[in-house]
Amino acid sequence: MLISKVGLREEVVEFANTVKEFCEREFKDTLEWDAQEYMPYDLWKKMGNIGLTGMMLDADLGGLGDDLLTSVVIHEEMSVYSPAIAMTLGAHAILAGNVINRAGNKKQKEKYIPPIASGDKVAAICITEPEIGSDAAHPKTRAIKKGDKYILKGSKIFITNGPVADIFVVYARTSDDPKRGVSAFIVEKDFGNISVEKMHKMGMRASPTGFVTFNDTEVPEENLLRAEGEGVHIMMEGLDVERIGLSGSNLGMIKGSLDIASRYAKERFQFGQPIINYQLIQEKLAYILSQLELNRLYLYNLAETWRKYPGSKKLRAATALVKMTSAQAAVKSAEEAIQILGGYGYTTDYRVQMYWRDAKLYDIGAGTTEMMKILLSRRIEEGFVDL
Ligand SMILES: Cc1cc2nc3c(=O)[nH]c(=O)nc-3n(C[C@H](O)[C@H](O)[C@H](O)COP(=O)(O)OP(=O)(O)OC[C@H]3O[C@@H](n4cnc5c(N)ncnc54)[C@H](O)[C@@H]3O)c2cc1C
Repeated sequence: MLISKVGLREEVVEFANTVKEFCEREFKDTLEWDAQEYMPYDLWKKMGNIGLTGMMLDADLGGLGDDLLTSVVIHEEMSVYSPAIAMTLGAHAILAGNVINRAGNKKQKEKYIPPIASGDKVAAICITEPEIGSDAAHPKTRAIKKGDKYILKGSKIFITNGPVADIFVVYARTSDDPKRGVSAFIVEKDFGNISVEKMHKMGMRASPTGFVTFNDTEVPEENLLRAEGEGVHIMMEGLDVERIGLSGSNLGMIKGSLDIASRYAKERFQFGQPIINYQLIQEKLAYILSQLELNRLYLYNLAETWRKYPGSKKLRAATALVKMTSAQAAVKSAEEAIQILGGYGYTTDYRVQMYWRDAKLYDIGAGTTEMMKILLSRRIEEGFVDL
């Protein structure tokens, strides 16, 4: 009955199976890592060995190539086991690495992409600030040109991988020009004058999150991406790729919820029957299954369309749509799965409660659901929606 996987490219199916086998073997303790806020960096190198740290990075520089559907299925398969580790990988390779891959010049790419692709270095993206969240195009962090360097000053908050990153992609204000005042930089931890505090969260707990402060950090001018004033353009392109690639995680959480809840419903007897016989339980399972199928159909299709028209602004509304609907479906599916498991779903013995907490992040990160709705309604106003 499910058609969302019909016709999928053979190499994508094979890669998905590789990731699944890897996670089955290596990700046995994800509930424990969640409880301990522990990211197993000893697995990072192993993930690099099978290409996971090289998502959306050029193949001739050691990456997996820019196949967005492959990134989607990596997130999908990994998130059944650990949405937090999938997010950590995504922030490293897709959010930070892919920005350098796309906006970097030859010298920048040759220097930074190989160690990111191999996993020898960890990367992070710095957009959000304590006072600037959804209004991301107006950062307060400044980069002031002084000779052949920029002096970077300001704080970034909620930075995935912040506590462990060697390389940061940072958006900062280089002028007060309202349209072209923001620029993007590659900043190495070793440039100095960077402090990081670890933050604690309700979900995505195995993924380290940091409050990062650049306190007059000296950044060589050759680490400016593209040119001064290109920052917002680079950021928006990056957010499109992020919204597609990381939404795969929502599919994984929906799939995990369906798997756990359906197995439980067949085994759990109440009033002399397995609870799957009750229509109120069937309704929840049917909801979860329908969300998996519909969101997967749309997301896979979008990832393949992106392959044909990479970077097309015409796809921006579609990226917002799938990010919004898949996040909300993942939260609701996890909630329904918890309900099917009753009191057991509320314990930390099952992954459904972890999915619920983790999925909520995708309602917020990479643009909140409210911002996605605003973006979609603007497209409707502009008449760009084919009906
Ligand atoms: C676990 C985690 C990891 C993250 N990782 C990163 C990272 O690696 N790098 C990074 O740069 N950032 C990261 N973020 C930050 C994330 O992208 C922001 O939290 C998000 O963009 C929202 O910004 P904010 O939290 O400041 O909320 P705000 O923008 O302050 O929004 C608060 C509320 O107001 C609503 N709102 C705002 N403006 C409007 C409006 N015009 N109309 C209607 N409603 C509005 C929002 O939808 C929201 O409900 C991460 C966040 C989390 C929680």
